[in-house]
Amino acid sequence: MTRFDNFINGEWVASTEYKANYNPSDLDDVIGEYAQASISQVNEAVQAARSAFKQWTFASIQARADALDKIGSEILQRNKEIGELLAREEGKVLAEAIGEVTRAGNIFKYFAGECLRLSGTTLPSVRSGVQVEVVREAVGVVGLITPWNFPIAIPAWKIAPALAYGNCVVFKPADLTPGCAWVLTEIISRAGLPAGVFNLVMGSGRNVGNCIVDSPEVDAISFTGSVTVGRSIAERCIQRQAKVQLEMGGKNPQVILDDADLDQAVELSLQSAYFSTGQRCTASSRLIVTDKIYDSFKEKLLEKLLSLRVGDALDSNTQIGPVVSAQQLENNLKYAEIGVKEGAHLYGGQRLELAKKGFYQKPGLFVECKPDMRVCTEEIFGPMASLLRVKDYDEALAMANATEFGLAAGIATQSLKYAQHFKQHAQVGMVMVNLPTAGVDYHVPFGGRKASSYGPREQANYAKEFYTSVKTVYVA
Ligand code: NAD
Repeated sequence: MTRFDNFINGEWVASTEYKANYNPSDLDDVIGEYAQASISQVNEAVQAARSAFKQWTFASIQARADALDKIGSEILQRNKEIGELLAREEGKVLAEAIGEVTRAGNIFKYFAGECLRLSGTTLPSVRSGVQVEVVREAVGVVGLITPWNFPIAIPAWKIAPALAYGNCVVFKPADLTPGCAWVLTEIISRAGLPAGVFNLVMGSGRNVGNCIVDSPEVDAISFTGSVTVGRSIAERCIQRQAKVQLEMGGKNPQVILDDADLDQAVELSLQSAYFSTGQRCTASSRLIVTDKIYDSFKEKLLEKLLSLRVGDALDSNTQIGPVVSAQQLENNLKYAEIGVKEGAHLYGGQRLELAKKGFYQKPGLFVECKPDMRVCTEEIFGPMASLLRVKDYDEALAMANATEFGLAAGIATQSLKYAQHFKQHAQVGMVMVNLPTAGVDYHVPFGGRKASSYGPREQANYAKEFYTSVKTVYVA
């Protein structure tokens, strides 16, 4: 079995403990054994990043741009091979997995250009003979903690701006997807960065994650994952005055109005709620449909939903891959029971036994739902959505906003009036009109409101708000 090590201070470092990683489409397929960093190794990684900081942050911008460009190019060249690993490791179907890898490559390319554009401002002072400059500087050592559901794009959209703006990185990927993190690290390790600028420490959140969060030498933490973990990280960062950015869960609404194009509404709801096995923070898990179109929408959606092909993520015929882990599958099945107990009717949603032993589940739809049911208020994070009936647009908007989350919201309508109103009144970070909520560009800001996000936006040049600090300079 191949063993994969951590990357600390420019070296591949073995560990005393390794953890095997399995393909969720085929549990007989072991992908590799991945080093679990010890606490002292995490501390070494943090120290290496600290020691490398001055050299990197004062390096020529051209050196940073070249390194990021090189990383982006190699990811793009190898997108099929890395996409296959992603599909094998996380269970995302191959076409989507390759799309994710391509996005990661494009993100590095984007920041190769963006680091050349970091600008400040010059202002006249109120005092004569004095000039004021407002400049941005790197924050220092950043700890990047990522989830399993976008195991290459989410690390990319944290690592690329962190490096572009002159920070040093300690990266802790999700323990379910170390393979993608390792390949990304291997590419970064050959990009010409000084030792210590980028470090990979694999392992559990409890050990490795906690150690990074509590390290006094880590100046900032960018976290993507669940609300519970995110909140505890934020509290600890605030206590020790480290900068913190959180991207967390969602219970995203997709509103479908009477005047929507029915076929288009069904298609975008299917994509939003079920593609990537529903394991997207932007997935539409609440389909809110006006009365007049409700029955025909339900009928068409169910017809398509129940015929989706579930199977091995590497099989080109598969539309819905497996759930990522036994624990996640158990969680989804628990919600199936909860929904039915609460009085909803569930179509699909059961475990599937296929020829290969994997975590397969039939996509499920809860109907006859009440908005306060747990299946309509809590993030399930699997191929399961709830259908909710409303009388008109006003009720749909109120229901869409009646959630603790605020990541993405979609509306399907032909009416410019309702689309405009929804754009203004949806209490979310991202609005999609006649498009799936799941599906975002790489060169624009990403993030939400309320319990979904905390701190500055990720992606695009908005990322500089988190990865730089502002300094005001007075010159006489
Ligand atoms: P998770 O919170 O369990 O884990 C996320 C990361 O945090 C992992 O690397 C994990 O090892 C680490 N971690 C766990 N406990 C920790 C601790 N105490 N200290 C430090 N690190 C710790 O989330 P997950 O199951 O990997 O991902 C699913 C969740 O991520 C969902 O809620 C989903 O909505 C969310 N998500 C949000 C976005 C977004 O951008 N809003 C994107 C993708 C996923």
